[in-house]
Amino acid sequence: MLTGKTAVITGASRGIGKAIALALAKNGADIAIIFAGREKDAEAVCQEAESLGVNAKAYPCDASDYTLVKTTSERILADFGRADILVNNAGIIKDGLLLRMDEADFDRVVNVNLKGAFHFTKHLARHIMQSPAGRIINISSVSGLTGNIGQANYAAAKAGMIGLTKTVAKELASRNVTCNAIAPGFIETDMTAGMPAATLENAKAAIPLRRIGKAEDVAALAVFLASEAASYITGEVIRVDGGLCI
Ligand code: NAP
Repeated sequence: MLTGKTAVITGASRGIGKAIALALAKNGADIAIIFAGREKDAEAVCQEAESLGVNAKAYPCDASDYTLVKTTSERILADFGRADILVNNAGIIKDGLLLRMDEADFDRVVNVNLKGAFHFTKHLARHIMQSPAGRIINISSVSGLTGNIGQANYAAAKAGMIGLTKTVAKELASRNVTCNAIAPGFIETDMTAGMPAATLENAKAAIPLRRIGKAEDVAALAVFLASEAASYITGEVIRVDGGLCI
């Protein structure tokens, strides 16, 4: 159980982040959730979490903005008094073949996905180190492991998150903080909803378990990594991809 702990989850107004936030709340953690613009969705997640008997609060914050992340982190600490678990989940895609990808699309994806994770880790690490069992969980992607056509920006950002994960794992281990990455494959969320049906059918055919994953498949692993049972696991990258990358 995570009772008495506070979890900060970025990008938790919908999709994988929402599933992780609610799963952590079900296990007793108070949750501070970060969203970009969808306030109503974020408030609905908080209400659902509160109905589970935990404290929950939503904060609008562009993860790519260093200063905003700093002030938001300070607000969270003032509101909750502590931070034990950080889930760097906020992410976007701006796909396109390398030859057509412009610099702005490359920068934006790296700034939100990779720098966003750096910003929250940087501003909360000192407080997570004060937890008896601090946890940092980075949501990477199989794209970061294998590369993916049309995702030079995203694959680079997600691969960068793996380097960040391993470094943070080494730097914070002496303070009993673990840091691990989850690399999801295809998961049913708004991010994949925009994909052409044929792409999703092809993906399904390539997945040994023959289905697109659910956000809850990823959330179950996040809860495990946040738990005491995972206290000897750090610096790992764990795929949740139905076997796609075997
Ligand atoms: P999603 O449904 O599109 O949700 C994205 C979340 O990130 C939303 O809560 C959004 O907030 C938030 N967000 C977007 N830009 C942000 C910013 N600049 N600052 C702060 N928050 C921001 O995405 P998802 O599919 O759940 O993906 C979650 C994570 O899993 C991402 O890192 C993604 O790369 C990774 N992932 C997803 C898949 C997949 O198949 N879905 C596979 C591998 C990895 P608003 O609601 O306010 O816009």
